[in-house]
Amino acid sequence: MKKQTISLSLLAATLSLTFATASAEEHGKVTHWGYTGDVSSEHWGELSDKFKLCSTGKNQSPIDIKSNFDVDLPKIKFNYTSKSTDIANNGHTIQVDVASGSNIESDGKTFELKQFHFHTPSENKINGKSFPLEAHFVHRMSHENTYAVVAVMFEEGDENPVLEEIWNQMPKKASEKVSLDKAIDYAKLLPEDQDYYRFNGSFTTPPCTEGVYWHVMKKPLSASKAQIKKFLEVMHHPNNRDIQDIDARIIVE
Ligand SMILES: [Zn+2]
Repeated sequence: MKKQTISLSLLAATLSLTFATASAEEHGKVTHWGYTGDVSSEHWGELSDKFKLCSTGKNQSPIDIKSNFDVDLPKIKFNYTSKSTDIANNGHTIQVDVASGSNIESDGKTFELKQFHFHTPSENKINGKSFPLEAHFVHRMSHENTYAVVAVMFEEGDENPVLEEIWNQMPKKASEKVSLDKAIDYAKLLPEDQDYYRFNGSFTTPPCTEGVYWHVMKKPLSASKAQIKKFLEVMHHPNNRDIQDIDARIIVE
C-alpha cells in the first residue's frame, strides 16, 4: 500500500472517530476460555454473551501491521519507576503486576501501568513477520476507563537478562501467584529506539474489549532459544490469538 502523509491534527481527529470507549472490566460469572480445543480463540465469541465482541468487533487485535500513514508521531513518554510486586501464572500467560506510580504519556493522555505479560509466538505481526515472543505492557486511564498497550517484540538471539529474572521466578503451575523475591527492572524491556506503530484495537483475550490504544515498538529485543522454549513449556501451548481483520482502521508510524 502506498503511504500517505497527514498532519497530526487530522490524525487525532481521524483516530478519535474510530475510537470507542472500553467497557468496564467484566464481573460476575467466570467463563472458561483458552487457546486449544472447544474454548480456543475461534470460539470465544460463542462462549458468553459478554464475549460477543470477540466475533462481531470491527477493531479487534492482534493484526498484521502494515502501516498506511507516515506521520511524525510524538515520542511516548515512559515513566517506569514503580516496583514490580508479584508474578502470576493465570493459565493464559505469565503476568507481572506493577505497583502504582508508573505511567506513559501518549497522545496527550496519561495511562497508568498496571501489569505486563507475554505471548508466544507474537500476536501482532509486522509486515507479515511473526516473532517468537511478544510482551504487552497494559496501562489504564481510570477517569475515562480506557486502556493503552505498549507491545515489544522479541527475536531469537542473545539471552535477555531481564526475562531471565522473570522466568526464574515464574510459577510453573496455572492459578499460582507469588510475590517477587527480586524486583524486575522492567523499564529495560523497552528498546532504546522507541519508534512505534499506532492504531486502535482491542484486548487480545476475552471479553475482547475495544477502544484500546495500541503502540507496537518497531525494534525487537532479543531472547535466547532456551528462554523462548522455557516460556512455551510453562504455558504448555502457544498463547496467541489469531490475526484479526484491519477493516477501516488507520495504522500510523
Ligand atoms: Zn497480551
